[in-house]
Amino acid sequence: MNRHFTSVRTGALASAKRPAVQSGKQKRAAIKLRRKHRQQREQLAKLTPGLPGPRPKHCLRVNRNLLAPFNSYDEPEFLRRGYYEDQAFTCRDCGSHQVWRAAQQQWWYETAKGYVYSTAIRCLPCRQRRRPPFPGRNKTP
Ligand SMILES: [Zn+2]
Repeated sequence: MNRHFTSVRTGALASAKRPAVQSGKQKRAAIKLRRKHRQQREQLAKLTPGLPGPRPKHCLRVNRNLLAPFNSYDEPEFLRRGYYEDQAFTCRDCGSHQVWRAAQQQWWYETAKGYVYSTAIRCLPCRQRRRPPFPGRNKTP
């Protein structure tokens, strides 16, 4: 899951062709090298507080081109940040504590073309209760 992001940061390393068959020694060397590069990145991130730190896990990159158009000089937070992040929210109807997953946000903004300033406000059962009955419609995914 992190592969895309990593390849952006270490483009040269990732695009270097790896031999199809690697000996144990080569593999260990490659692992060692990757570890070294990661440590270097972490060091750099520590020394330069302006740079975004290492991306937390379970986050997905935002693809700006897939978002619904919006008329604003400002940008929603996830767009400034550049990736989707699990987001805690409280259901407006039943008050239960929920998490809007990064993958769900990505689907909402990029696939369903949801408005970029809209966020999750209700849990799934409450959303389902609000839906008008519609014959032929099965359970939502
Ligand atoms: Zn609810």
